[in-house]
Amino acid sequence: MIDVKTGLLLWSAEALTLAAILMVAWVHKRAVRSYLFWSLGLFAHGAGVALVSLRGHIPNFLSIEIANGVALSAYAFAVAGLCHRDGKPLRAAGLLPATLWVGCMFIPGVRENLGYRAMTFNFGSCIGALVVAHCLWSPGFARLATRRQLAVIFLLQAISSCIGAVVMAIFPADTLQQIASTPLTAATSATFLVLEVLFVSKMVMDESEKRLKDLALIDSLTGVLNRRGFFERFESIRAQAMREGRSIGIVLFDLDHFKQINDRYGHAAGDQTLMVFSRIVARRMASQGAFARLGGEEFAAILPVENTAVARAFAEGARQELALKRIFAAPYTIGATVSAGVKVMAAETASADLMLSMADKALYAAKHAGRNRMVVAGEEAEPQDDEEGTADIDACVRQLRSLHMSGNCPADRTFKRG
Ligand code: GH3
Ligand code: MG
Ligand code: MG
Repeated sequence: MIDVKTGLLLWSAEALTLAAILMVAWVHKRAVRSYLFWSLGLFAHGAGVALVSLRGHIPNFLSIEIANGVALSAYAFAVAGLCHRDGKPLRAAGLLPATLWVGCMFIPGVRENLGYRAMTFNFGSCIGALVVAHCLWSPGFARLATRRQLAVIFLLQAISSCIGAVVMAIFPADTLQQIASTPLTAATSATFLVLEVLFVSKMVMDESEKRLKDLALIDSLTGVLNRRGFFERFESIRAQAMREGRSIGIVLFDLDHFKQINDRYGHAAGDQTLMVFSRIVARRMASQGAFARLGGEEFAAILPVENTAVARAFAEGARQELALKRIFAAPYTIGATVSAGVKVMAAETASADLMLSMADKALYAAKHAGRNRMVVAGEEAEPQDDEEGTADIDACVRQLRSLHMSGNCPADRTFKRG
């Protein structure tokens, strides 16, 4: 049986080695800041444990007050790493364990009693492990099984620390050796650290794999789904709509006279317009359905809907919002419009290809009728002799004039046919 100091030093060496590995990983991939946070957490944990092991060789203040506070601050780094990974704001709850420790060190009765200090440390660990488990359990960017498994491990660690705190309260220890030889303190802490490191590695690998898979379905310019992503998501949304007894709506969007925006203001302004439009629709989708850039300036939304009116209102809302939006693409301020074709079908019979082709016909009718409008499949107007329709051209000219007066629109934007 090794003595307590050697045990603590081994434990510290384990944490510091892992910290160094993570630091190297972060230096190689600086964008992954979670590696940095976790590395700092393991450094804090290892350094804290090392200071505890030096008890008797360094001032008590360092080996007790500072050592345990530093070790408990590891939870703040662990939580920060997870929040960063999930793109969520940092949670102050990660600071609770270290704060609790610092607060208790101002209570002389606790500060001067080894048993109470051990109890406080265990209780702090329990809170820290619970906070980490909660972060892991709440939906991150990837809902992976490994995340849940890791959450369960932290939950078990919290339970073990809580039992440790209760044991310390009932049987106050007088020496470090007594604390370390309590089965729940020594063996389980080391086991949990190893288990957590193993599962974190697995989680990181699974998440990277998922990230790569997701990337293949994402349009790099706008960040929305690409054509492949559209077809992949269609089936899962259709299956869910069937379960919920809802229909499927497809809204096909095509920006109007986009070539002219490129020609007049440059490709970068065109790109900016694509991004602004994507943001408008993506925000309107909330968490329902899916939105994809099918190619060029053509987009499609898949919506689980109760009826056609819902899909129509969605398309109309997006169209109006873009028409009112001023797009800043230095040094220009641009106005853009979009036309949309809408098709709604019962989820049981819906097929992506069929719906896209019908929505495309409706979109064509919207373009034909003068653009900056939405047409529902089956409600297309009969083509006029005059292809664009004089009244519609007049409406467009009126709209352009008002945009010119605000100084935001191309001076010679013309309406081409078809
Ligand atoms: P309509 O109103 O009939 O849809 O006219 P349009 O000019 O929008 O349509 P057209 O198909 O003639 O032009 C589409 C243009 O979109 C041509 C192409 O250069 C441009 N485009 C395609 N992809 C991109 C892109 O990623 N960025 C930019 N800036 N332009 C793009
Ligand atoms: Mg277009
Ligand atoms: Mg087009």
